[in-house]
Amino acid sequence: MVNNVFFVCPHCGNNQDFKIFLSSFQAVKQSPELAKRVDESNILPNLRQNDNFIECQLCLRRFDYDNAASIGKKYLQNTQRLIKLRFTHSGNIPRS
Ligand SMILES: [Zn+2]
Repeated sequence: MVNNVFFVCPHCGNNQDFKIFLSSFQAVKQSPELAKRVDESNILPNLRQNDNFIECQLCLRRFDYDNAASIGKKYLQNTQRLIKLRFTHSGNIPRS
């Protein structure tokens, strides 16, 4: 599922707004809290069919698609672990 791909900008740390340039073009919005894409533009044709990168909408730098996706995957694994830790921790607090 394409929707499970999550990007993080290795330059500025942006984890929300990106433009994707593949054989088609699309702007997407992600939610770091939900760990998924929450909004996306219509898919537009890309005249340069060989593109395979994403553009960060904050620093406007471009990154290899697969590279940014694998960074995003690690990022999600880490944040999910932190969230789980936090839940486990608060679950251990005795209620009186
Ligand atoms: Zn950036």
